[in-house]
Amino acid sequence: MSTQSDSLVTELVSLTRDAREHLIYLHELGIEGIEAPPDSEAPTLEQRAAVAFETRTVGTRAPADTLFGELKPAPVALSKSSETFEEIWADIGDCVRCPLYERRTHIVHTEGNRRARLMFIGEAPGADEDIQARPFVGRAGQLLTKIIESIGFKREEVLIGNVNRCRPPGNRPPTPDEAATCKPFLLREIAAVGPEVIVVLGNTATQNLLGVRQGITRLRGQFQDYHGVKVMPTFHPAYLLRDPSKKKETWEDLKKVRDYLETTARRD
Ligand code: URA
Repeated sequence: MSTQSDSLVTELVSLTRDAREHLIYLHELGIEGIEAPPDSEAPTLEQRAAVAFETRTVGTRAPADTLFGELKPAPVALSKSSETFEEIWADIGDCVRCPLYERRTHIVHTEGNRRARLMFIGEAPGADEDIQARPFVGRAGQLLTKIIESIGFKREEVLIGNVNRCRPPGNRPPTPDEAATCKPFLLREIAAVGPEVIVVLGNTATQNLLGVRQGITRLRGQFQDYHGVKVMPTFHPAYLLRDPSKKKETWEDLKKVRDYLETTARRD
């Protein structure tokens, strides 16, 4: 093949790869189809999600071996959306999308600094959070606040949310269906804020954000990637309350986050 057709093939492969990655992400946001532009000026579902993807790659794109070889998803950077939390929450409304609404007192939305560089994601509200309509305000939350402060941040400087916004009965983990129903709203908040680092607390948050099956013990302490955002899995503070010996590892994980943020200039 000539050099020119080689580069056309490479370009075709990378366009396919970008499109595939974009569709996977839209699917994660709960968007199952892309609507044709409407006649009116009303925003489409895709625009409301407002998670614009720059289909540019991050770093160097590895050359494809063959056109029909295995296509590894290329990392695609998340760019900030212009949605506000109020718009996202209005969309959530008095949610009845999954059975967790039946026994909740309050929906617990993400709270904190909407320009945060650092975000923490947990599993779902517990009893205290359900009553107060705020994430991480019970015993585990008080420990999370100390963890945040241990790396030089105030609680109100970071963003704190959960995969699910309604308390599962008996504090059981949300089912995969419950998590999949609620997660798109969290992803929209992430796109609205554009944090540079996300700390995922425990198995549920790690597996749901990253779409992986490995547990926290395997993944903790190593930066992962979520569409160009650095993700640090670590133990959930509720687990640390049960097994304080794991605080040492959590501290090691959080120091990596602190060091990364200290050595990286703010993006905007
Ligand atoms: N545990 C969580 O995962 N989230 C909360 O908000 C509180 C406890």
